[in-house]
Amino acid sequence: AAAKQTRRSAKPVARTPPKLSSPTKVLYPDDGYRKLDVAQYYEAVMDHLLPEIAGRPLSIIRCPAGTGKACFFQKHHTPGMELVRFVRLKEEAGNNANYLVVDDAAAVMELVQFNALEFHPWGAHADDPDRADRIVFDLDPGPDVPFAEVRRAAMDVRRRLEELELESFLRTTGGKGLHVVVPLQPRDDWTLVKPFAQSFAEALAQSEPDRFLSVASKRLRNKRIFVDYLRNGRGATAVASYSLRARPGAPVAMPLAWSELSKLTRGDAFTLADVPARLKRRRKDPWAGIELVKQSLGRFRPK
Ligand code: ATP
Ligand code: MN
Ligand code: MN
Repeated sequence: AAAKQTRRSAKPVARTPPKLSSPTKVLYPDDGYRKLDVAQYYEAVMDHLLPEIAGRPLSIIRCPAGTGKACFFQKHHTPGMELVRFVRLKEEAGNNANYLVVDDAAAVMELVQFNALEFHPWGAHADDPDRADRIVFDLDPGPDVPFAEVRRAAMDVRRRLEELELESFLRTTGGKGLHVVVPLQPRDDWTLVKPFAQSFAEALAQSEPDRFLSVASKRLRNKRIFVDYLRNGRGATAVASYSLRARPGAPVAMPLAWSELSKLTRGDAFTLADVPARLKRRRKDPWAGIELVKQSLGRFRPK
């Protein structure tokens, strides 16, 4: 009985991740990074990545033959996945489907074994999928926008959110733009959160039409920044902080402190090669406390 007692009160034993097959397979042909390098990257950032994706419906980008060949976006649980859980959710078409959910490091590493390079969570948890707890304003610059303008856009989004008494957080995407992330208490569902995000984007575009637009048209973008509010909705995703991107250089979506923005020169400034060392070096998590921010959108509910 004593032994049982001990076992019950002990921390759950960490599950063993699957053995990595083809560790020397090159997944980033431009950089020579192998599957083993990807696995070691995810092991190194796991304590930071996991809180950003655990318990949320999760999409992944898999590149079985590396980023030089076809990659695909996967939302659903597939045969052979044993450590990755699923949650059965209604899809837009009305049918139900099994969405991927990871709860621990072993499950993440199982997805890496399946050649997942990118992780894209919902802005809601699997056990409460209609209640949003993250808004993402995804700033997508047109081809002729200098990065200084993307920086300025992120600061403007932050300031306008502050005017609404909403605190926000910054991350690079590992691509061309930046994300401004607003944590929410999981109170309001997407039918409030999505129109809020849309109105916010539209107001920005209306007040400064030379800098911003709120429609996805690439043709109209040119010198302007699309304030992509479409990351906010049931089933929509945004790249997770600390996820790699399946792009040359193996860039990382990196959370930053607002104070770090002024010296940032590009959205893909952080990579597989430097992020683990950077995490060891840094004294403070720039997003520390994001889970403790108590804010919601109830007061914006239409009367
Ligand atoms: P960038 O800074 O280069 O724009 P990004 O991650 O913001 O990087 P976007 O093209 O703006 O890239 O895409 C925003 C999000 O849309 C992605 O992070 C992803 O979660 C989602 N997305 C991308 N591809 C697909 C897809 N095939 N199906 C569904 N959602 C996708
Ligand atoms: Mn984007
Ligand atoms: Mn976008």
